[in-house]
Amino acid sequence: MSRQARPRPHWSRRLSPPSGIVTVDLHLHSTFSDGTEEPEAIVESAADAGLKAIALTDHDNLNGIARARQAADTLGVELISGTELSVGWGDAAMHLLVYFLEPENGPLQDKLAEVQHGRATRNDRIVGRLQELGMDITFAEISEEAGGTGIGRPHFAAVMVRKGYAADIGDAFDRYLATGRPAYMPRQRLAAVEAIELARASNAVPVIAHPHTLGVGADDYQTAFQGLAEAGLGGIEAYYAEYDPALRGHIAGLCSQLGIAATGGSDYHGTYKPSLSIGTGKGDLSVPYSCVEALRAQQAGNR
Ligand code: AMP
Ligand code: ZN
Ligand code: FE
Ligand code: FE
Repeated sequence: MSRQARPRPHWSRRLSPPSGIVTVDLHLHSTFSDGTEEPEAIVESAADAGLKAIALTDHDNLNGIARARQAADTLGVELISGTELSVGWGDAAMHLLVYFLEPENGPLQDKLAEVQHGRATRNDRIVGRLQELGMDITFAEISEEAGGTGIGRPHFAAVMVRKGYAADIGDAFDRYLATGRPAYMPRQRLAAVEAIELARASNAVPVIAHPHTLGVGADDYQTAFQGLAEAGLGGIEAYYAEYDPALRGHIAGLCSQLGIAATGGSDYHGTYKPSLSIGTGKGDLSVPYSCVEALRAQQAGNR
């Protein structure tokens, strides 16, 4: 089933991209959630792209970390363990990247079991709703699409497309799966502050992912995120594939004012988000290695 990482000769890889800047990608999804590539394949692509470090950030679980780390050790890529949690922030669903969370016992790791149960229950309800809406879709088909575990909405979308109920993944979200649409099913979430505190208590560093999804204008980020920074927020994703250079710079400047890390990544999902590539996003992404150093400085503050 799973492919093992192939050792490769040192001369077959570039050590840094043509620009000469040492770059990283700190937001990547594998088959352990809703990405289509195995952890080893992601690490190989990162090595091919000349990335010095990557973080695997599957939704709500750390199950791919051990395999990614083994491949990363073989290929000489620095692997940062991570996950992406959906947390509640007022009425909004915030995505919180948690870096350096190791697959072992700990306050947040123990909570992940409950989060995974909530996801499974929600997934059952989505299947029921799609059937009520007249679609001939079974849980077994969704599970097969997901490879058994880490089931998320893009897997539902892919099956809907294959069976002719939607034109493409985006259409499946727009008409059925996105927040407020007929097959959207909420699930219980940790509150943002609770998740931040649990992350810090687990010697990890919590970071707001893609802040544009929070319904707050970029000019208001400082006011909006001040309280979270005081609660232990360790960073904000500034170098995101969807952002223009001005917004990336604006968020990085805010991070520096708040004394937290600016981070970045592609949010690669393989063929579920076909326009995004590892390391380069839509082609113009370049996340400097200094982001990793800033995250490590944040982690050092946990002690
Ligand atoms: P889940 O974790 O099951 O709630 O699904 C979250 C995933 O769905 C993330 O990978 C999102 O990028 C993806 N997603 C959320 N909203 C949309 C949308 N409107 N169009 C495409 N993908 C989306
Ligand atoms: Zn995802
Ligand atoms: Fe996200
Ligand atoms: Fe993501």
